[in-house]
Amino acid sequence: MKNCDQFREIFEAYALGALDAAERISLEAHLATGCKDCAKSVEEARWLVSQLAYLAPEAAPSDMLKGRLMQTVRAEAQAARKSVSTKPAIPVWMWAGVAALFLFSVFSVRNVEELRNEIRTTNKRAAAILKQRQDLEAQLESAKREAVILTDPASVNITLASTDPNTPQLEAKWHSTLGIVLTGQKIPAPSGNRVLQLWLIPKAPGGKPIRSLTLRPDAEGKFVLLVSNPPGIMIETKALAITEEPEGGSLQPTTAPRWVGGVS
Ligand SMILES: [Zn+2]
Repeated sequence: MKNCDQFREIFEAYALGALDAAERISLEAHLATGCKDCAKSVEEARWLVSQLAYLAPEAAPSDMLKGRLMQTVRAEAQAARKSVSTKPAIPVWMWAGVAALFLFSVFSVRNVEELRNEIRTTNKRAAAILKQRQDLEAQLESAKREAVILTDPASVNITLASTDPNTPQLEAKWHSTLGIVLTGQKIPAPSGNRVLQLWLIPKAPGGKPIRSLTLRPDAEGKFVLLVSNPPGIMIETKALAITEEPEGGSLQPTTAPRWVGGVS
C-alpha cells in the first residue's frame, strides 16, 4: 500500500503523457507488478483524459486551456518529486479543481452554442406548428361560413348569366352579414396567369364598379369563392359582374364583363 501512495498524485499526468521519464518508468514498473488498484486508477485517468480530448477537439481556446493544464500538472509532478516522503505538494482536490474548471469551460462554451441552436430550432418548429394550426382554423372558419351562407334561407340567390352562350352561368349567394359565396362549374380557365375578378356594380347613378376578389377555376373548371367582407352592402348594389383581368386583379375593369347578375 505504501508503495502505491507515491503514485497517487501522478496518474492523470501519466495519462496525459506529462510525466518525466524517471517517474514514468517507476510507475510502469509498479504497474508491471500487477497492482490492481493502480491499474484501475490509470484506467480512470485515461478515461478522464479521453473525455477532455473529446470535449476539446481543436478549438483554440481549449488548446490554450489544455496547455495550461499540462503546465500545472508538470509543475505539480516536479514539486511532488522534490518533497518525496512528505505530504503531497498539491492536494488531489486542486488537480480535480483544475480539471473541473477545464471541463466546465469547454463544456459550457459548447453547451451555450448547442442550447442556442436548439432554442432556435424549437422556436422555428413552434412557429410552424402555430402557423399550420392558424391556417387550419382559418380554413375551418371559412368552410363553416360558406356552409351557413349556402344553406341559410336568408341568403339571396344571384344568378350570373354568361355573355358567351357556350359558357355556363355562375351562382352566388349573398348573406347580409356573412358575405358572398360565388360558385362555378365547368368554367374554362383564363389564359396564362390571368384571373377572373368579381365587381360590385353600385345602384347609385354613375357609380363605378367596386373591385372585389379574384379567382381561377381548378383543372375541372370548378371554383368556390368566399367573399367574407364584400366591399359594398346588398341594398346599394345593383349587380355582380365578373371580368377577366391580369394576375393579381385590377383597380378598374380592363375588359368587358363575362358574367353579370342582378341583385334583387
Ligand atoms: Zn499500486
